[in-house]
Amino acid sequence: MENITSGVSEIIVIRLTTYLRCLYIAKRKRKNIIKSVEIAKLCGIKSSVVRKDFTQFGAFGIKGKGYEIENLIKKVREILGLNTMKNVALIGVGNLGTALLKYQGFFDANFKFVGAFDLNYQKIGKRVNGIKIYDIKNLKKFIDKNSVEIIILSVPSAAVRSIFKNIDLKKVKGILNFTSAILPCEGKKIYIRNIDLSRELELISFCMKKCLKKEA
Ligand code: NAD
Repeated sequence: MENITSGVSEIIVIRLTTYLRCLYIAKRKRKNIIKSVEIAKLCGIKSSVVRKDFTQFGAFGIKGKGYEIENLIKKVREILGLNTMKNVALIGVGNLGTALLKYQGFFDANFKFVGAFDLNYQKIGKRVNGIKIYDIKNLKKFIDKNSVEIIILSVPSAAVRSIFKNIDLKKVKGILNFTSAILPCEGKKIYIRNIDLSRELELISFCMKKCLKKEA
């Protein structure tokens, strides 16, 4: 990720996405200015880290006052590359894929589903939340024609290898992989994010153990 995020560590990028959510919350409360300590409290991060992160990207607050929320949101969105709408295609319209297609939050964050793909003829041609399901055989052509930049994989892992061959990595720059398949990305200019919710539960299980120890 180091190269793809232009030398910025993944941890900082993740923190920026957290700041953005906190700034939206503050904006909804009709605040105009926010202090780094307030952001820190909302995000559960040290205020010195918040200040250091923003300074690194040239986002400076007003001395003694804080940050103008609107400007900071604009700046963080710019850093994260969220200013332009990105075209997304989803592959595998089963239980998970259907839920993802129905989620409005992606569009609000500037990610637009331009198409979905499956091999099941009973699904092809139908729509989920207005998004058309195409035959997986047409994936290559579709990516080219519709400037697809991001692919979401929600197929059985055994299907991934053959699908990956049809993804033009000159066009697609990001893959959100929900399957357990390991994608071969070495030497390729693409960012792959593997999502595993059982891993998240394992983390919760570990942290619960620590909490229980503290209480005892
Ligand atoms: P599902 O069986 O309901 O859906 C899979 C869909 O993929 C079906 O519509 C099927 O027709 C389609 N498909 C199969 N082969 C295909 C191919 N070659 N090309 C295009 N479409 C194809 O499965 P699900 O419950 O939605 O799970 C989907 C994937 O997500 C699985 O790999 C599962 O393990 C994974 N999953 C991961 C998490 C996580 O936390 N990462 C959580 C839930 C599911």
